[in-house]
Amino acid sequence: MAPKPKDASKRRKGSDNSKKNQDGTTLSQNVNNGDDKCKQCSKIFINEGDKLVECERCEGWECQSCSKMSDLEYQALSQSGSRMHWFCQSCNEEAISAVKTSQLIETKCRQYVREMKEELLEHIEEKIDKELDSTRLELQQVKEEICGVKHQIANQDMQAARIIEEKMADTAQMNVSEIQERNARRNNLVIFNIPESNKVEPDDVKREDSKQVEDILQRIDAPCDFNVLMRVGKKGDAPRPVKIRIKEEADRTNILKSAKKLKGSVIFINKDMTPLERAEHRKLVTERKRRQEQSDTQGLEAHWIIRRGQVVNVMRSERSQRAAVDKPQEEPPQENPPQEV
Ligand SMILES: [Zn+2]
Ligand SMILES: [Zn+2]
Repeated sequence: MAPKPKDASKRRKGSDNSKKNQDGTTLSQNVNNGDDKCKQCSKIFINEGDKLVECERCEGWECQSCSKMSDLEYQALSQSGSRMHWFCQSCNEEAISAVKTSQLIETKCRQYVREMKEELLEHIEEKIDKELDSTRLELQQVKEEICGVKHQIANQDMQAARIIEEKMADTAQMNVSEIQERNARRNNLVIFNIPESNKVEPDDVKREDSKQVEDILQRIDAPCDFNVLMRVGKKGDAPRPVKIRIKEEADRTNILKSAKKLKGSVIFINKDMTPLERAEHRKLVTERKRRQEQSDTQGLEAHWIIRRGQVVNVMRSERSQRAAVDKPQEEPPQENPPQEV
């Protein structure tokens, strides 16, 4: 209970102002509550102006006389609010000791809290230090890993550049070889299905082959100067193709144009192609066949041929059609798969 000098001038006994009488309890009940009775002399004070004081510890009431309080002291206490405290004689010592103990506890608590704070701070600092150390370590590892990856990438770049360089060199080399090879074969032709000679002497064989080639060129009205170079491929049941070299390039072109006159015979004449040219030609032959079949299936009037390295339909327009009829093809479609030469 809040310290409260009992001043009857403020708190009339049994009046409606009485804090303990708000629910309408009677005077006798107030007496029974004990705050109208001095706990020393047991007198009951119910008159206006009676002076009683309450102990802040045991909450018992004493009259001014028993509490040995002067009028001035009583007045000061009643006006002090919560600034002055009063304890009855039996409570006084214990109250002081309790205050002291409380202060001691408070001091100890403060000290404890301070120590705890310091310890906690120390602990936190230690923990932060540790975390920082491990973070630094991890960072270092990450840096090293990045460094490694950079090196790897740089190495791979170098490797890629080297591979590209090598490939380009290879391609350039291949192109050079291919061009050289094509040039070397420029004036050559290959004639297929010329029966093999029965002669034993190489010179005799060559002479016989030459005679046969000469006959064929006569037959297509394209006689010219040439040399038989060799029979190419492995000797087997079928006659091996004869490779010849034409002296004049114009003659070679003429022979190729005239070769269509061999239609109906087993003999045919081809360019002397490099392996790469043969592969390209095979692709074109396949493509020409596919397109022709497709057109035939769809009932379209079409005639697909290979011309200047492309598959073209010579019946697409009137002009093309006329060209196909009137003019001999520069390169007539060659269905026979070129043999490995
Ligand atoms: Zn008394
Ligand atoms: Zn007391």
